[in-house]
Amino acid sequence: MRHSTRRRLLLAAILFGAASIGGLAAGARRDQDAASYDDIATRLLQTGLREQGAYATLAKLLSVGPRLTGSAQADAAVRLMAEHMKALGLDNVRTEPTTVGHWVRGGREEGRILSRTRGAIPVKVRAIGNSIATPAGGVTAGVIEVHSIADLEKIGDRARGRIVFFNGAMDPALLDTFAAYGGAAQQRSGGAAAAARAGAVAAVVRSLTLEIDDDPHTGTMSYDPAAPKIPAVTISTAAAERLSAVLGEEPDARFSFTTSCQTLPPVTTHNVMGELRGSRTPEEVIVVGGHLDSWDLSPGAHDDGAGCAQSIEALRLIRELGLKPARTIRAVLYMDEENGGAGGRDYARSVNRKAERHIAAIESDRGGFLPMGMGVGAKGAAFARIQAWEPLMQRVGLQWIRPGGGGVDIGPLGESGTILMSLVPDSQRYFDVHHSGTDTLDKVNPRELQLGANAMALVAYLLSEEGLPK
Ligand SMILES: [Zn+2]
Repeated sequence: MRHSTRRRLLLAAILFGAASIGGLAAGARRDQDAASYDDIATRLLQTGLREQGAYATLAKLLSVGPRLTGSAQADAAVRLMAEHMKALGLDNVRTEPTTVGHWVRGGREEGRILSRTRGAIPVKVRAIGNSIATPAGGVTAGVIEVHSIADLEKIGDRARGRIVFFNGAMDPALLDTFAAYGGAAQQRSGGAAAAARAGAVAAVVRSLTLEIDDDPHTGTMSYDPAAPKIPAVTISTAAAERLSAVLGEEPDARFSFTTSCQTLPPVTTHNVMGELRGSRTPEEVIVVGGHLDSWDLSPGAHDDGAGCAQSIEALRLIRELGLKPARTIRAVLYMDEENGGAGGRDYARSVNRKAERHIAAIESDRGGFLPMGMGVGAKGAAFARIQAWEPLMQRVGLQWIRPGGGGVDIGPLGESGTILMSLVPDSQRYFDVHHSGTDTLDKVNPRELQLGANAMALVAYLLSEEGLPK
């Protein structure tokens, strides 16, 4: 009884709040603005948590399966998300073309440690994105273990004719797991190139995760145009520990693997977008976004289905609350973040941007975990304005606003002065699933995912109403 009375009072407050916002001129009646924003933050939080639309959108997206750039599933995701945004009532839902590389894994991936004393020990291998395949009969050679590219460069000629085994672990002592990832990721992205320069025949790379488990974590890599291309695979952390232990006892143990991946001709695919068209200055745009493509080992629930779902949900929520943003708020689902970044570049360069001015872009590509804060890549008065919203953001569960911000997809917008921001969730579990077969819907908590969408909705709305000083 008391509960329902309170609810009715709340409803009245909501209606009154919405009416007063609609009648305000920019910059006027600041006290009432502040009270209204407070009210809007509360409504966003409560409606979001009650409806959990982000999770529903994520489940829909993941129904197409893994979405590797260039794949049929990635194109299916483009169509599905465009239909979904239309069904939710977003404005100007459309796709824009982008030309992407097209690497495929192929059906054959086999590996084993060849020990004199223990025989052949099977090891699960996964080709690293953009790697060439082995010859049909595979590659078999002695192994040299190193912990980084710098390590490799110190050992002189000892890698020649061998397989280089990069066994650098992510540093568990770092609080921010992205920093730990950054400290070790070069062995995956540049290990094969460095090994080829040293005369090696192949590269085997320890998976980038802090867990010891049996799941290989893939990712992208590139070759050195001045060195031969050699095949590269990743093995799980448990397999890496095993290989290292065998090599410790038996330095002349060999490794053998076979892959059948290949790079096909580039294909044209699409970024997808929908918006809430600005009621006052529609040519001024605030972007919220994530990337539509994923790796091929799982449907990419956290990386980055979560960011796509949150971006769409942020707009759905703002619309659901009956708010009419002054500037355009646009959700952009970018293609090809994982394997080249073409979607982000093509979005920024599109002729369709010529008549627009992008005030700010907010990227969610750090998983759908509990949001902690927001990184803001602005200085001076622009940063101060956004940071002044911290108490409002705290109402929807965000703890802080700090310098930082950016991402692969929105980076190209920054070149023309757009303020780049990123949602920063708790990072402790992200690399358990990142780029592996375990990045699935069941790893996502619907409330945590929604809290990220709520925070993106609020900051995008505040940016649309208040703009930013130049
Ligand atoms: Zn990602």
